[in-house]
Amino acid sequence: MNYRHHFHAGNFADVVKHVLLLGLLDSLARKDTPYCYIDTHAGCGLYDLGASAAQRTLEFKSGLGRIKTAAANGAPALVSAYLKAVSTIGSERSGFWYPGSPWLAVNAARAQDRSILMELHPEDAGLLKQHVSRHANVSIHQRDAYEGLTALIPPKEKRGLVLIDPPYEQERDDYAPVVELLKKAHAKWPTGMYAIWFPIKDHHAITRFYRRLRNTGIPKILATELCVLPPDNQLGLNGTGMIVVNPPWHFDQTARNLFGWLTPALSDHRQAEWKVEWLNRENPEKPAGAKKPVDDDE
Ligand code: SAM
Repeated sequence: MNYRHHFHAGNFADVVKHVLLLGLLDSLARKDTPYCYIDTHAGCGLYDLGASAAQRTLEFKSGLGRIKTAAANGAPALVSAYLKAVSTIGSERSGFWYPGSPWLAVNAARAQDRSILMELHPEDAGLLKQHVSRHANVSIHQRDAYEGLTALIPPKEKRGLVLIDPPYEQERDDYAPVVELLKKAHAKWPTGMYAIWFPIKDHHAITRFYRRLRNTGIPKILATELCVLPPDNQLGLNGTGMIVVNPPWHFDQTARNLFGWLTPALSDHRQAEWKVEWLNRENPEKPAGAKKPVDDDE
C-alpha cells in the first residue's frame, strides 16, 4: 500500500466526489428513518493542506482553490454546502484543513444515523479515529474493504449508502476488482445505494469498466464523468468519475446541473467536458432472443 491521500486532498477529483457525496447524503436525509453510511476506503478524515505532502503537490489549488474563486459569484446549493463544511473546520481548528469523505458524512449524519468506516493503512486508521471518533454512532475498522464490506452488510437500518473509493493501485487496468466487490455486495444488499469513485486516465479502460458493469446485470447504474483535460491526455489524471447504483430520484438531473457549473469552474481547457449516462437503467433481464452480453475482456 503506497497510496497516501495527503498528496491529493482537495484536488479537483476530491471536490467533485465530495460535492456528489453531499448530494447523496442529502437525499437520504429527506426521510426521518435512519440510514447507514459505509465508507470502504475512508482515509484519515481530515488533511492538513499546510503540511508538506499537500504543499509539495499543491493539487488543492486547482480543486478547492478554483471552486472558492468561482463561488464568489454564486454557486449551486450543494457546492455552497460543501464550501460551508470546509470552512466549518477552519473555525474549529487552526491551520488549513480539508475534510475527507468520512468527516463530511459523520458531520452530515443525524442522531438516528450510523456510520461504518474502513481503512486498511494503520497510520491513517489511527488518524481517522482521532478525527471522527468523538461523533456518536461511528464505528471504525482497520480492515480490508474487499472482505469487510460483504461481512458488514446489509445494515440493520436497511437503507443507506456505501462509498467505495479505492486508491486504484491494483484496480487500474480494468477496474475488475471493484466490479467484483460491487457484485458481491449487491447480492447481499440489493437495495443499498453504492457510489464508486474512479479516475479517468485512459478512455479504453473506462469502456472496459462500463462493459463489466453492464454485464453484472445490476439495474439502475448511473455513470458520471467530469474531465478537466482531454480524456486521452498522457500526462496523468484527466478526469474524475462516480458510478452510482440505485441513485436517488432525479439524481441524474442533479449531477447534470452540478457539472454544468463545476466543469468551467475547474478547468479552462476548451476540451473539458462532462457526461452523465445510464449504464443499466432498469432490470435488464434478458427478453427471449436478446443478444448475449459482450465478454468483459472483448
Ligand atoms: N475516501 C477518502 C476521501 O474521500 O476522503 C479518500 C480515500 S483514499 C482515495 C483511499 C484510501 O484507501 C487510502 O487511505 C488507503 O490507505 C486505503 N486503502 C487502500 N487499500 C485498502 C483496502 N484494501 N481496504 C481498505 N482501505 C484501503
